[in-house]
Order: sequence, then structure tokens, then C-alpha cells
Amino acid sequence: MRQLDTDILILGSGGAGLFAALHAHKANPALSITVAVKGLLGKCGCTRMVQGGYNVALAKEDSIERHFMDTIEGGKWLPDQDLAWKLVTLAVERIHELENELGCFFDRNPDGTVHQKAFAGQTFDRTVHKGDLTGIEIINRLAEQVWARKIRRLEEFRAIELIRNRSGSAIAGVLFIDMRTGEYTLVRAKAVLLATGGGPTMYKYHTPSGDKTCDGLAMALRAGLALRDMEMVQFHPTGLLAGTHTRMTGTVLEEGLRGAGGHLLNGARERFMPRYDPLAERATRDFVSRAMFTEMRTGNVGPNGGLYISMAHLGKEKVRKDFKGMVERCEDCGFDLAGGLVEVVPTAHYMMGGVEFAADCSTGLKGLYVAGEDAGGVHGANRLGGNGVANSTVFGAVAGDIMANWVEKEGSLLDFDPSVLNEAISRCEMPFTSKPLSHGSLEPVRERLHEVMWNKVGIIRDEAGLRAALSELDSLEVELARTGIADGNRAFNLTWHDWLNLKSLVQVSRVIAEAGLARTDSRGAHYREDHPEAGPLEDSAYTSVHEEGGRLRIDMKPVRFTRVKPGQSLLRDAA
Ligand SMILES: Cc1cc2nc3c(=O)[nH]c(=O)nc-3n(C[C@H](O)[C@H](O)[C@H](O)COP(=O)(O)OP(=O)(O)OC[C@H]3O[C@@H](n4cnc5c(N)ncnc54)[C@H](O)[C@@H]3O)c2cc1C
Repeated sequence: MRQLDTDILILGSGGAGLFAALHAHKANPALSITVAVKGLLGKCGCTRMVQGGYNVALAKEDSIERHFMDTIEGGKWLPDQDLAWKLVTLAVERIHELENELGCFFDRNPDGTVHQKAFAGQTFDRTVHKGDLTGIEIINRLAEQVWARKIRRLEEFRAIELIRNRSGSAIAGVLFIDMRTGEYTLVRAKAVLLATGGGPTMYKYHTPSGDKTCDGLAMALRAGLALRDMEMVQFHPTGLLAGTHTRMTGTVLEEGLRGAGGHLLNGARERFMPRYDPLAERATRDFVSRAMFTEMRTGNVGPNGGLYISMAHLGKEKVRKDFKGMVERCEDCGFDLAGGLVEVVPTAHYMMGGVEFAADCSTGLKGLYVAGEDAGGVHGANRLGGNGVANSTVFGAVAGDIMANWVEKEGSLLDFDPSVLNEAISRCEMPFTSKPLSHGSLEPVRERLHEVMWNKVGIIRDEAGLRAALSELDSLEVELARTGIADGNRAFNLTWHDWLNLKSLVQVSRVIAEAGLARTDSRGAHYREDHPEAGPLEDSAYTSVHEEGGRLRIDMKPVRFTRVKPGQSLLRDAA
């Protein structure tokens, strides 16, 4: 097997991965740094897809305390407060770095200050943006800076297993498939960053990029790490619903549309949100998605089973100017966003859950760090729009700084455990070697997964549905094991990678369903029809899931209110 060695290995090239690479390089240019990514660096992942923008307290009328309180209250008191504090404080540094060192241009006011727009669930308009396609600006600049440095790139390189050292106490490296050749490659590293970006693509309607299939979370689970808040899957209210024939269905129409005053209408063209929440369309994503789902269940829907977003009352030209990217996206699919109605549906967007980690990005496994959407605990029960890219850039940079320092002081290349390596390879070879009963298409498995997650582990849940989902997931696991791949050529075998994608998705879907079953209250993105109450905030606990002897074990752990307790506010205290 091919083997490479590096000081720092970064998995993923989104905001988290690229910031980590740049910061580690800046901290110590002598270190060898490798970024390994399932797609092409700068072209894959969700940071590139960021539309609306980046939350940061820049205006003098705003404050980091206000941003923090919005994050905690939006997260229904489940966020880890030290992580949330780090997010809001370091977001200010990162946005200056993005503008002044890395060369991003964000939109400005006539007086030269950075323009900040309204996003739902915030008490201040603090979302920095570049039009409505902010991610392209951020990722292009980050990628250029990485290309300009001596940082090794392994592209179309899929991580398949975290490999521990012989004693099991630390990370020794990562096993990959070089997708271009199909060869297995082991990369040994002193420190590894997991930044593969989660991605709830197991739902019928979803927004993330196709390369994201929860591989990082599945690997972390197999490596014995605990995942927290996994029941918290965020649905974005306005996914485009353009019919079953196009992958544009599910892609997101940005939050700023509702922030700017867009209305949601039902099939009878009536505005319904004011009946559900006093903030109407500007309520947080969880409220709006649930209200939409409830409205959809009454059958008062559009031709594709969804609802409508309407912007025309804000003025056609204004909408065209302020939301150029969204208007063009809708036009591509035959819809007139500026003057007409566009059919939308809540769409799985983001996983608040992820690997448990400390504010320095370290995890329970020595030498392994985590950042971005793979990491859990920053957002609690609900991520505010605009806090996602802030999260990945803030913690990516922290991880880069910390890893460089740690590697210099105590990092070393360790001997790996060959049994884990062999097990991982056998698992990946399964569709070629296990005398498959059928050489069927993977499409039926994917469709069943999408349906069961949307219907039973989606926006509104209950015990019976979650249990039914778990048994359907068991059956999908069996079905997948039976589905062999006819083409034995490993080079760029996309069916093989699809099979591996589904493996990760089914594994992580089970964690979401189990965590959903364990949480017998309703908070943020997790709503149980059989347990609709939020429960006392002072007794807030988060779900923590890990694998033990091949089974999932779930604990409820108390949230530590290290900065502010329910009923208090940093703002009131400050006043
Ligand atoms: C359409 C859309 C719009 C959004 N708009 C906003 C917004 O306006 N504001 C906001 O704050 N957030 C927004 N988000 C969320 C935001 O994009 C994410 O929170 C954030 O970018 C995640 O960054 P990341 O670095 O963790 O992951 P990503 O940027 O998704 O990067 C993950 C990387 O990991 C790689 N990878 C995956 N699996 C493997 C593997 N097995 N091996 C190797 N590499 C792997 C991927 O190829 C990719 O390079 C949006 C998301 C979407 C989908």
C-alpha cells in the first residue's frame, strides 16, 4: 500500500480546512501540511455554496455580547457557552483577516462601512455578505492563498478510516482511497484535523454539496469518539421545489429573502406565518420549517406539494438588484422570483450535531482535532443563519494555530494498528467480494433512505416513527450489504463511492434517530409531537452518542452554563 507521511493532515477543504491550513502554515512554515479532499480544492463542500453571509458584531451599536445572546437563545440554551463565546469573539478577527489579509471584498455602505444585512433570529442586522453569493468570494480567496504556499494537496482523495496507534491512545494517520486510481493510501500524520463538513444528505430534500455524506462523523464514531446533539438537524425553510426531474430541487433560496420581508404563502396563496409566530417569516428556521410542514400536512399546497415564497410586494427591481444570484437561480428553473411565486419546501441544510470537542478543537483522541460542521456543540438546538461560515472559519483557524504548536512540542509519527487498517479495507471491498446477491442499482436504497428520514426523522417526530425508522435503517443496511457492484475496476468507480456514501449516511442516520428517541422534549430543530414541551431550561441536557461493542450508547449530559444562566442575559448584566 502506498504510504505518505506529513506533520499535519487536514481532511476537507471548506472554510474550516483551508483556514486551518493557512494558520498552521503561518504559525510554522517549516511544517509539512497536507490537505486531502474528496473533491477538488476550492470547488467542493458547502462553504463555497454560502449565499447569505457571515455573522459578526462589527457595527458600533452591536456587540459580541448581543451576538452571543442571540446564539444561545437561538440554540435554545443547548450550545456549549465557551464554544459560542469563542465563535462570536473570534468572528471579528476572522472577518478582518478575510478582508485585509486574504483579499475578500464584501458589500459596503455608501459611507464605506461594511454592509450588514438582516438574517432571521437575530436582534441586530449583522450578516456581512458579498451580494448573495458570499461563499464563492471566501473560498476563491482562501484557495488562492493555499495554492500560493507550499501546502501539499491530495485531491479526489477520500478519507475512509481514522487509524489509531498500536495502543489505541492516539491518532496515527488516515486511510484513503485515491479516487482517480482506486488505490488505498495510508497517510501518517502527527496531527489530523477532521473538517469534512457533516452534511445531512440522507433527507429527500437537502441543500449540501453532493460530496458531503457524513463520512467524517461515521469515521469518528468508528474511532470511538462521542457525537453530541445529533438529533439537531436544521431544515432551511426555503428549498427550491422544481420537480423530481432536477437536482435543483432542495437547493436553498437564501435566508435574506425572508429577512428582507419576503412572504410565505400556502397553496391558496394566503400568507400563513403570522398565524404561527409573531415574528412571522423572520422567526428562526426551526419555527418557520415546522409551520410550513404543518401547513403542508393540511394539503393546502402547490403543484409539487410545497408552498410559495413571494417577493413582488417589495418591488421587482429592488429584488432583482438585492438578490441577483437568487433571481437568476430561479430563472434557470423557470421561476420568476422578483415578480411571481416560487414553490419552496423545507430542506435539510445543516447538522448542529457533531464530534464533541474543546474550545481548542481537541477531541477525545490525542492528536485528532475537529472544526467546522463536523464539530458539535457550538449551536445547540438551532444554528442561526450566518453562524455556519463564521463557525468553520473561526474554529478552522483555531485548529491550525493549535495543531502547529502541538506538533512542534509533542507530535510524532506513530506506529499504526494494522488490524484497523485491514478491517477498513475489508469493509470497503465488501461490494466487490461478498458474493453479492444482486448487482442492482443503488437508487432504490437511496430513495428508501430519503423517504424514511424525511417522513419519520424529519421536521416533526414521534416515538413510533423513530422506532419504525430504526428498523427501516436496519433493513437498508442489509440491502446495501447485498447490493454488489458489477464493475470491478476501482479507478474513478463512482458507483463504488456512492455505495460508500450510502454506508456512511445509513450509519449516521441511525445516530440521528437514536438521539431523537433519547430526547424526550422539543427544542429548536428537534420537535417531538409526543413530547411538545421544551422542558425546564435550567435542566438542559445534550445527547452524547458513542459506539460500544458495535452498539450505540446514548447519554444525556448536563449543559454547563459557564457564562449565563437561563433567565439571565449578558446584555442586562452589562447594563
Ligand atoms: C447552499 C448553502 C448555503 C449556505 N449559506 C450559508 C450562509 O449564508 N451563511 C452561513 O453561515 N452558512 C451557510 N451555509 C452553511 C455553511 O456552508 C457551512 O456551515 C460551512 O461552510 C461548513 O464549512 P466546513 O468547512 O465545515 O465544511 P465544507 O465547506 O462543507 O467542506 C467540507 C469538505 O470536506 C470534504 N470531504 C467530505 N468528505 C470527505 C472525505 N471522506 N474525505 C476527504 N474530504 C472529504 C468535502 O469535499 C469538502 O471539501 C450554507 C450551506 C449551504 C449548503
